[in-house]
Amino acid sequence: MAQNSVVAIANQKGGVGKTTTAINLGAALAMEGHRTILIDLDPQGNASTGLGIGAEQRQKTVYDLLAGPESLTECLIATRVSNLSIVPATPDLSSADVDLAQTKDRTRLLHRKLEEAPDGSIILIDCPPALGLLTLNAMVAADGVLVPLQAEFYALEGLSQLLTTVRHVRQSGNPNLRVNGVLLTMSDYRNNLSQQVEADARATLGDLVFPTVIPRNVRVSEAPSFAQPVLLYDPQSKGSAAYRQFAGEFAARLKLVKEEA
Ligand code: ADP
Ligand code: MG
Repeated sequence: MAQNSVVAIANQKGGVGKTTTAINLGAALAMEGHRTILIDLDPQGNASTGLGIGAEQRQKTVYDLLAGPESLTECLIATRVSNLSIVPATPDLSSADVDLAQTKDRTRLLHRKLEEAPDGSIILIDCPPALGLLTLNAMVAADGVLVPLQAEFYALEGLSQLLTTVRHVRQSGNPNLRVNGVLLTMSDYRNNLSQQVEADARATLGDLVFPTVIPRNVRVSEAPSFAQPVLLYDPQSKGSAAYRQFAGEFAARLKLVKEEA
């Protein structure tokens, strides 16, 4: 039986392409026939909005999943991409760090709930821009961490802090946690700086950096306001092509197997 793959998409910097990657990697994998679940773990709820889940649909949220008796299945909402469902987030998630501070096993809350995911699921967790309790829950629940890096100055700064957190999670209860890889995002090929950042990242991190680089593409930034992944909004765009290619590399790296229907 195919195992589940749980991937935390994390970087404590905001605006580096975590949510965009969660939505479009999720859509690309789902379109390839993988049963894919996106967990929106950011109080801003951008992944939920970007996939067209309106506030009125967010009855059961990731906050209930963490803090309440709700099961994963009860919190899942189908999206317009078949095979892709999401657990949405609402702003009340922003108090989770404080609300859950006294809870027993508070870093394992998500892990427990994800254990009931159907076999063969790919679960992508869109982390908030911080290394707090929410991201810790994601890393404790995950098999791997995918790190989007924006191809700009200072991109590599902060990475060591992230890797320290990964090591800490490994030592404190999730020994098998890996870094799946680093994805360069929002690269501008006309800009020498982007090329310099890419060269630096590859020199420092080697094969950890995925071959595909996501270009800065206006269709990618427009898609969320149409409540769609760019793969639906403009399948022919450069952004869509890059995310499809990246999804292929990602599936190969994780040795993802498709569940027989
Ligand atoms: P994070 O989740 O890390 O905060 P986002 O995915 O929300 O980052 O991206 C930050 C902003 O950059 C968003 O407005 C998003 O639409 C835009 N963006 C992300 N990737 C691209 C891209 N490849 N091309 C153009 N704009 C992008
Ligand atoms: Mg985000």
